[in-house]
Amino acid sequence: MRHILLPIVLVFFSCAASRKGNIDLHAVSFAQHPKNIILLIGDGMSLPQVAAHVYWKGLGKTIFEQFRVIGFHESHSCNELVTDSAAGATAFSCGKKTTNGAIGTLPPDNIPCPTILEDLAREGFATGMVVACTATHATPASFIAHQELRAFTDEIALDYLKTPFDCLIAGGESNFSDRYDKLNLLDSLRMKGYVIRRGTRLKRLPLDGAKPFVNFTAEHEPPTASGGRTYLPRSTKIACEYLQKRSKKGFFLMVEGSQIDWAGHANDRNWLRAEMDDFDKTVRTALEFAASNGETLVIVTGDHECGGLALIPGSGKKDFKPTFSTRLHTASMVPVYAYGPMDELFLGQYDNTDIYKKIVQALGRSFPQY
Ligand code: MG
Ligand code: ZN
Repeated sequence: MRHILLPIVLVFFSCAASRKGNIDLHAVSFAQHPKNIILLIGDGMSLPQVAAHVYWKGLGKTIFEQFRVIGFHESHSCNELVTDSAAGATAFSCGKKTTNGAIGTLPPDNIPCPTILEDLAREGFATGMVVACTATHATPASFIAHQELRAFTDEIALDYLKTPFDCLIAGGESNFSDRYDKLNLLDSLRMKGYVIRRGTRLKRLPLDGAKPFVNFTAEHEPPTASGGRTYLPRSTKIACEYLQKRSKKGFFLMVEGSQIDWAGHANDRNWLRAEMDDFDKTVRTALEFAASNGETLVIVTGDHECGGLALIPGSGKKDFKPTFSTRLHTASMVPVYAYGPMDELFLGQYDNTDIYKKIVQALGRSFPQY
């Protein structure tokens, strides 16, 4: 009798979703410390972008409204009030302020700073990144590469050979195969045991966890969400399940909604709307994974605001007209949403470098660099 009942009970508890389609996040009991970390970065996403998303989609219908733990980070870089994505991501990856444009290096002499991905990979955690841009773009690069400038994309691609990451789903194959130095980094990755795949079907990946893999979703930049890109939520689910099999110790996964920022630079509200929808689905996937095991800490934030977006009144009393005030980044504080073991660490208002420190603290670990 027990054998018949057990699978039914397991399905009931593991499917932490209500009938309305919302995840019942708060019926889950958490482990004392997280085993897994999922850091989701909406590049260029701050409060106005989230607010526009909430009003476009309808109150109560976004994943952001499911969180109970919310904080703010101060996004400035070490030399400018308004950060770029390289310094912004390096603050998260290394826990240190750096100059705009620097990838995993610190002033004054461009000293490489060990990143959380590298530290955890060295200690036997499975690690991965899933992004909607090229692998060499500033945000993913800042977790695995060490270069003076974000523009050194061929050098950034070479840095991927220096850290034993487990999975990468990203665009930008050309930085690995069509290079000024004529090196074929795809062959180099294969020599290191990586399975290399292309496209967005995400088929024939070694999802049993036996081998590391890279799936290039595009030769250069992946398309926009409104232009048909749908792989980010699916890739996040695949990466979580794969990384869980890959190491018993736990995993670190960085996921980036990369093009929220590009929509801001372009002052394109339709592009922004589609990117926020896609990022919402992606965050939802991560939360579903976290709610299914109670041992995963999910952190969702942006690196900075982009576009100086204002939600000004529209023609009717309930309408709004999202209006950009610049084509650049701004100094707005950025919301931080957290869910999972030790999520309360992310309450309050703090520096962007504290996100790194809070992740380390949540894991119950200490790293030598601070
Ligand atoms: Mg980015
Ligand atoms: Zn930007």
